[in-house]
Amino acid sequence: MKYWSPLLACALLPACQQEKPSSEVKQPDRDRSVQGVVPSVEETATEDTTHLPYPDDTGHGADGQAALTTEWPKPDSFTPEQLEKLTEALRLANRLIKDPLFAGVLRDLQDRGQIDWRAPGTKRRYSRLPQDQWARPTAYIMEQFIQKQLNPITDFRPYRWAPGSDVTGSSTCVADPKINVNLIMNRSLGNIAGTIIHERVHTFCQRHTCNCPEENQCDLAYQAGSLARAINLYRANGSRPVSLRRHKLCAALKARLEARRLAS
Ligand SMILES: [Zn+2]
Repeated sequence: MKYWSPLLACALLPACQQEKPSSEVKQPDRDRSVQGVVPSVEETATEDTTHLPYPDDTGHGADGQAALTTEWPKPDSFTPEQLEKLTEALRLANRLIKDPLFAGVLRDLQDRGQIDWRAPGTKRRYSRLPQDQWARPTAYIMEQFIQKQLNPITDFRPYRWAPGSDVTGSSTCVADPKINVNLIMNRSLGNIAGTIIHERVHTFCQRHTCNCPEENQCDLAYQAGSLARAINLYRANGSRPVSLRRHKLCAALKARLEARRLAS
């Protein structure tokens, strides 16, 4: 509980205990066909990636296959300036996950069944979570946030992706997770903080269905990262509503942000 206030823990835990399936998004505990299935070889792959979420952030190149070749990404090293910026972004990310709005909005979405855990075939988003948590994946990951918080700065490793790639980072779902950071860090601190939080969800073992941000916009990793960015903008605006018109984010999250008057 070093970074998490008791208030936040109280805000999160009841929601964790009350997670219920909703008719809006098919929840894992309704998907009886997947229970007890042994993960396929494909599911043992551990890497997930984060792509630039905002169309106006920088140019989007053809990432996809380039980022998945054996040549890329390449390990590199941080310059002192890059490490300083990443450290500052991590500090911001720690503030954002402690903001009561972070737990509050995620709880809203969870209660409405608007965090998407659906996935076709063997690509279930929750398949790398402990199997006894498959029926309550959001609650499990929110508990992980409370217990383990964000990665320390020493877990972040510098990588360079192929020129033109829009990948911002990747992470692994293992006991001692590291986060690979794209060295092209000319993004805002808020966006980098959002990526840090997105990647943290992957280290807690949520996976995407494909290397396609558009189809994963409403999963927990994307919504948590997008929410953190929105809270940052809102707080920087004196806790007055901000415009998110240029931002790509899940429609359900946008509706929640508008309902709570974080966005207009
Ligand atoms: Zn991701």
